[in-house]
Amino acid sequence: MRNFRLNIVFMQIANSKIEELKSMLQTPKNIVILSHTNPDGDAIGSSLAWAEILKNGGHNVTPIVPNKYPYYLDFMPNTSSILFYKDDKEGRVKSALKSADIIFCLDFHTMTRLDGLGDIIDENQHAKRVLIDHHLDPNEDFDLMISYPEASSTCYLVALLIESMFGAETITASMAENLFVGMMTDTGNFAFSTITPDVFRVVSILASKGIDIPAIHNHVYNSFTEGRARLFGYVINRKMKIFHNGTVACMSLTSDELKRFWFQQGDSEGFVNYPLTIKKMKMSAIFTEHTDHIRVSLRSRGNIDVNVFAQRYFNGGGHKNAAGGKSFMSMEDTLKHFEASVKEYSREGNI
Ligand code: 5GP
Ligand code: MN
Repeated sequence: MRNFRLNIVFMQIANSKIEELKSMLQTPKNIVILSHTNPDGDAIGSSLAWAEILKNGGHNVTPIVPNKYPYYLDFMPNTSSILFYKDDKEGRVKSALKSADIIFCLDFHTMTRLDGLGDIIDENQHAKRVLIDHHLDPNEDFDLMISYPEASSTCYLVALLIESMFGAETITASMAENLFVGMMTDTGNFAFSTITPDVFRVVSILASKGIDIPAIHNHVYNSFTEGRARLFGYVINRKMKIFHNGTVACMSLTSDELKRFWFQQGDSEGFVNYPLTIKKMKMSAIFTEHTDHIRVSLRSRGNIDVNVFAQRYFNGGGHKNAAGGKSFMSMEDTLKHFEASVKEYSREGNI
């Protein structure tokens, strides 16, 4: 049996924050909703649902992300309304940010996760900045912080916000679909220790809006390319290294290897979880080579804190059991650095 702390079973966003948000939104505003680089289902789902409810309330809303989301999220409702900073030749991102009265930052906790976009935001000093997020240790740089690291996803937080500000009846089928995607993906299909009874209460509200859950599941988990399936076989069979007495696994993919398997952004999503299906495995890492850095993805089981590990050794962060960061060394040196870091971390009793 699991014990839930009372406040998590009935998780509620503080009334004072709700009131402050309501008063910000009393008159029609120019609103930008921002989410992080390499946006995932939670980033896109929370941005689009929040955008829709605000639009329905008469606001002018622009959802923006630094770069494109993975191809298998294309089915999500209203993705055509998103602006991608990297592809924005007409300067629409800049002008939306310039005229924004409120900038909502969803599903990230530090401006470093916005790459170049952070500087443009700083040019607008009059906009109110509001954080809606579930990552640990957020920057304090916001006018209003709706930061709940115990929440399993930002979509769950947005659902709670909509429910308490406008009522569950205002959730449309498209909002429900977007929110469900983030709640499902950020909980590993409702399997991680972050789930609570209240998550399922919210899911039941979303399900009552008529969303097709099996179809959503198929879109997200069964719509990959052939290249991805072959790359997965390759990385597990040929590249997975297990050490530290069978408790730590790491994998790496160079840009040449990625090219061989016709890599598209998002194709390696989820690979890092697989080594944790091995009994006794406690921590897993994957290193993927990009043009100017190596992307680091970390997962752990139980008490092993990969958020601290990512902060300390890989300029990153995230959650206790799922974190990421970057390395600017060669792949060979990155892997050596990883092994040495695991040794140091375990000497301190952390693994
Ligand atoms: P993923 O491995 O799925 O890319 O990322 C897992 C989690 O780690 C994300 O939800 C995010 O919180 C965090 N994360 C990933 N990359 C970075 C990074 O470069 N910096 C920080 N601070 N967090 C990251
Ligand atoms: Mn999230």
